[in-house]
Amino acid sequence: MPRPIQATIHTAAVQHNLARARRAAVDANVWAVVKANAYGHGIERVFDALRAADGFALLDLAEAERIRQLGWRGPILLLEGVFEPRDLELCSRLGIWHSVHCDQQIDWLAAHKTQNPHHVFLKMNSGMNRLGFTPERYRAAWARLNALPQVDEIGFITHFSDADGPRGIHHQLQVFLEATRDLPGERTLSNSAATLLRGSESDVRGDWVRAGIVLYGSAPDYPQRTIADWELEPTMTLSGKLIGVQHLEKGDTVGYGSTYVAEGPMTIGVASCGYADGYPRHCSTGTPVLVNGVRTQLVGRVSMDMLTVDITGVPGTGIGSEVTFWGKASNGVVLPIDEVAQAAGTVGYELMCALAPRVPVVVD
Ligand SMILES: *Cc1c(COP(=O)(O)O)cnc(C)c1O
Repeated sequence: MPRPIQATIHTAAVQHNLARARRAAVDANVWAVVKANAYGHGIERVFDALRAADGFALLDLAEAERIRQLGWRGPILLLEGVFEPRDLELCSRLGIWHSVHCDQQIDWLAAHKTQNPHHVFLKMNSGMNRLGFTPERYRAAWARLNALPQVDEIGFITHFSDADGPRGIHHQLQVFLEATRDLPGERTLSNSAATLLRGSESDVRGDWVRAGIVLYGSAPDYPQRTIADWELEPTMTLSGKLIGVQHLEKGDTVGYGSTYVAEGPMTIGVASCGYADGYPRHCSTGTPVLVNGVRTQLVGRVSMDMLTVDITGVPGTGIGSEVTFWGKASNGVVLPIDEVAQAAGTVGYELMCALAPRVPVVVD
């Protein structure tokens, strides 16, 4: 029998979450962001659930090709644009739109013998200082692109650094609106957080919103709001079983480093999941876990292949009991990935992307 661990991808939940994102930005088009293999879910596994999107946004040409192979004929956008001149050939052959964020990418376009003219999104660095032209240099870049026979349509793109936090988007929004005011073309500004929080404002939703994490059942502004608050459903469940049980007395310790010391008699379940499966080793005693769909907690350190949970007083538990590390238990109880991520000092994005290759994945 294979080791009892698996990840389950809930495609109906992905579909539900896409509809939720759309409701937040009525009348805008929605890019389904599927970079990093659909945030660890697998592009092929979620593709059907995301067919109702208006386009797919990602970073990697190989992933764009996979989407074309699945039969998608609509828009695909490379969020970071091309990485070398010959990428342009594939863009033109497969009709892939791409961001243009630096002069070099314009030079490559200008030198490119294209089959089909390119649809590009000119990227503005409106304050995040990652990719893009500064507002001062934006118009010159636009004029250069606009003069190229290789370029057909030019849209406008920027990215917010603080859509989920107290600083907010106002400062970047003003810069972007000001610098693009009289330029003709489509606009895309908002990630999941900006879409959920401010998608009702037409300037913020623009022509396209870029829905990433919202599709995958994690609240972009956790812990201010949870997936329940946003009416989102978990899309990935990581589950295993209890493979061992220990009865402890006061003073007994658990696991490497003896970091957990029993305060009295208790029962410990040993679950079939460790950091080599993608469960974060940074989680410590107190991290929530579901056993038979009942909430309890991790105790002691996470090992490579196992972790230990307190099952004292959890009814009917023993070897073979279902353990849910995040997602949804068989009885319908939900443990949001955000809670586990927070216990590890990270975000849901990282946990879903870090699901280990050795974990078998099933689709439901
Ligand atoms: C990843 C990414 C997104 C999606 O961000 P979420 O927070 O997951 O919604 C949007 N735009 C760009 C440029 C990105 O790289």
